[in-house]
Amino acid sequence: MPTTPSLYDLDAMQLADLLDGQPRYRLDQVWQGLYKHSLFPDEISNVPKALRETLIQRAPMALTEVTKSVSDKGDTTKWLWRLTDGSVVETVLMLYPDRATVCVSTQAGCAMACGFCATGQAGFERNLTAGEIVEQLMRAQRAAEGRRVSNIVYMGMGEPMANFDRMWASVNKIHGDVGISARHLTISTVGIIPGIKRLTEESLPVNLAVSLHAANDTLRDELVPINKRYPLDDLAAACAEYVKVTRRRLSLEWALIADTNDRDSDARELADYARSLGAHINLIPLNPTPGYPVMGTPPQRVNRFVTLLTDMGANATVRRTRGTEIDAACGQLAAGRPTNTLVPITISRAARQDQ
Ligand code: SAH
Repeated sequence: MPTTPSLYDLDAMQLADLLDGQPRYRLDQVWQGLYKHSLFPDEISNVPKALRETLIQRAPMALTEVTKSVSDKGDTTKWLWRLTDGSVVETVLMLYPDRATVCVSTQAGCAMACGFCATGQAGFERNLTAGEIVEQLMRAQRAAEGRRVSNIVYMGMGEPMANFDRMWASVNKIHGDVGISARHLTISTVGIIPGIKRLTEESLPVNLAVSLHAANDTLRDELVPINKRYPLDDLAAACAEYVKVTRRRLSLEWALIADTNDRDSDARELADYARSLGAHINLIPLNPTPGYPVMGTPPQRVNRFVTLLTDMGANATVRRTRGTEIDAACGQLAAGRPTNTLVPITISRAARQDQ
C-alpha cells in the first residue's frame, strides 16, 4: 500500500488542507477540473501555475500508463498501469452505441485462485486504494472520445469484496464526486458472503453480480475454490436476503466452459438456482487464458444452453465478448505477466462427471 495518498484519494477537506490558504473558488476550480473535466492537474488552466505545481508536488497521481491497446475498431481500449510501488493493474473502456462502460480493477492480482481466470492464475499482490480505483475511471474518461462514461463495472482484476472498505469508498466518490448514478455501478463478486451482507445494508443502490459458474458444490469447489468457505446454499441465502431487502435484481455470471459446466444437467441446476432468486443470468463463453487448457463452449452448444434455461423459465442472455485479441476480455486481465510462468490447471474427472 502506498504511504502517501494519491490525488484521487483526497476528499474536498483534505484538498483544502493541502492547498492551505487558497480561496474557496480556487478549490472549487481544482475540484471541478479533476472530477468533472477529468483533467490532469497541469491542465487546470483556470488556476495559477504555482497552484498547479503545489498540487502536483503534494498529491501525485497514482497511475503511470505502461501500455494502451485498442481493439474492436477503436471501441475497446485496455490500459496497463504501473502504480507508485511498482505493482501493475489493468482497466478496460468499452464504447457502445448507447453507453460507455469502464471496467475497473480493485486489487493488483487476486487471491481467489479461480483456475480459469488469468488474474487468479497469477496470484495476489495488494489491495488498491479508493483513489487508485477512481483514477482508473478518470483516465478512461479522458480517452472516451467526447462520450461521457455512463457505467462502471467492478469486474477488472481482483475481488472487490475482499477489499470492501476501499472499494466502497471508491463507489461513494464515483457517485458523489464524479456524479455517476449508483444504479449504473455493478459490483461483481466471486461470492464472498460477508461482502454481500454489507452491500445489503448500504443505501446506495449499486447492482450486484455473482460469478457462479457452477450450481453444485462439487464442481464449484473446483472452479471457484472460495466455494469451500462459502458454499452454494449459504450463498443463495445471502443473495435472497440481498434481493428481499434491496428489491434489486441480482445477476449471475456463468463462463461457459466446454464439457465442464455446459451440459444439460448444468443448465437445470443453474435454472433452479437462478429462478429461486429471480436472478438474471449472464452467459459468457470462456475466454482463452494461458494457464487453463480448456475451451469455451462452441456457439451451437451455447444456443442450446440458453434455450434450455429459457424453457425452464430462467432469464438468460449471452454477453458479447469484447477485447479478446488484446487480452482485455473477462478473465484475461493478467497485467502483462509472461504467460509461460503460469501453471496449467485441469478440472478433475470426478468434478466434470458429477451428476
Ligand atoms: N472477482 C470478481 C470480479 C472479477 S469479474 C468476480 O469474480 O466476480 C470478472 C468476471 O469474469 C467474473 O465473472 C469471472 O468469473 C469471469 N471470468 C474469469 N475468467 C474468465 C474467462 N477465462 N472467460 C470468461 N469469463 C471469465
